[in-house]
Amino acid sequence: MASSSLPPLKGYNNYGVYLREKFGGRRVFKVIVDAGFTCPNRDGSKGYGGCTYCNVDSFTPELPRSLVAIRAQIEQGITRAKENYDAEKFIIYFQPNTNTYAPLATLRALFDEALSICPQDVVGLAVGTRADCLDSDKISLLESYTKHLMVDLEMGMESIYDHTLLTLNRGCNHQDLVSVLNQLAKSPLSLCVHTVFGFPGETRDMMLAYAHEINRFPQIKFVKLHHLHIVTGSIMAAQYKRQPFKLFELDEYTDFLCEFLPLLRPDIVIQRLFGISDLKLLIAPNWGLKKVRIQSHIDQAILRRAVCQGSQLASA
Ligand code: SF4
Repeated sequence: MASSSLPPLKGYNNYGVYLREKFGGRRVFKVIVDAGFTCPNRDGSKGYGGCTYCNVDSFTPELPRSLVAIRAQIEQGITRAKENYDAEKFIIYFQPNTNTYAPLATLRALFDEALSICPQDVVGLAVGTRADCLDSDKISLLESYTKHLMVDLEMGMESIYDHTLLTLNRGCNHQDLVSVLNQLAKSPLSLCVHTVFGFPGETRDMMLAYAHEINRFPQIKFVKLHHLHIVTGSIMAAQYKRQPFKLFELDEYTDFLCEFLPLLRPDIVIQRLFGISDLKLLIAPNWGLKKVRIQSHIDQAILRRAVCQGSQLASA
C-alpha cells in the first residue's frame, strides 16, 4: 500500500498502483453488478425522483443494466475483462442505486451468490450505498466478508453542506454520513467516500473545505472525486435547460484538483479524479475527450506543477 512516508506516485495516491501493490502485481478489475436495487429517495420512503443530478443509467455500462441474473453479469464481466484487459483478479462491485437498501436476508443472499462465482479469482467486494441505508446488522454482514476479501464500502458524501444536499433532493444530511463514519471508526471495512465538485452555490473555497472534512476521519481509506456533469433524464438536466449555470471546463477542473490534492491527507487512496458518464447521456460539460485522455491531461498537469497530495497540510 502507498504510505504517507513515501512520496505518492503521480503526485497522488493512485488506486491502480494501490491495487497492484496489494495484490502482488496482478491486474485487478472491478466487475459491476446491478442487483436491481432502488433508492429511498426514489421509491417515496424519503422522496421521489432521486438526487437531482442522478440518472442511474448514466454511471454504468449498458450491459449490466440490461441483464437480470447477477451470475450472468459477473461471468460476462469477468470474461470481458480477461479478454480485453488481461485482467487476473476481480472486485465484485455492486454499483447502481443503493446496494444496502433491502432486508438483511436479501443482501446476504445476493452477496453470497455473487461471491460464489469464480471465487478463486475474486479478491474483493465493493458496495455503493447511502449512509442512511446502513445499520449494525448490515455492517456486520459486510464485515463478515473481510475475513477473506477486501471489502470496500462506498458512501455518497456528495457535498458537505446541508443546504446543497437539500437542494439536490438527497433526502439525507451530512450528519447521517458523519454518524456512520464514527460508527465505523474501528471497522475492518475499507471506507470510500464519493464527492462531487461544482454544485451551484458552492464557491471554490467551499469545495476546498471538503478536503479538511474528509481528513477528519482517519477511517476513510479511499475517495472518489467527481466534477458535476449534467445527464439526460435527471432533474438537474431540466433545471440546466431552463437556466444554464456554470460548470467546470477541463482546465478549470484540473486547476481545482491541483489546489485540492495538496490539502488532502496523503494516506488516502484516490479511486477516481473526475466524473465519468455515458457519453450518450452526457449533456454538459462535454470536454470532447475520452476517459484516458482526460486522465492523462490531469496527470500531466499534476506532474508538471509538482503537485503532491497532502503537501499543504501543515500550513492548511
Ligand atoms: S445519486 Fe445515488 S442515492 Fe441519489 S438517486 Fe442516484 S443512485 Fe440514488
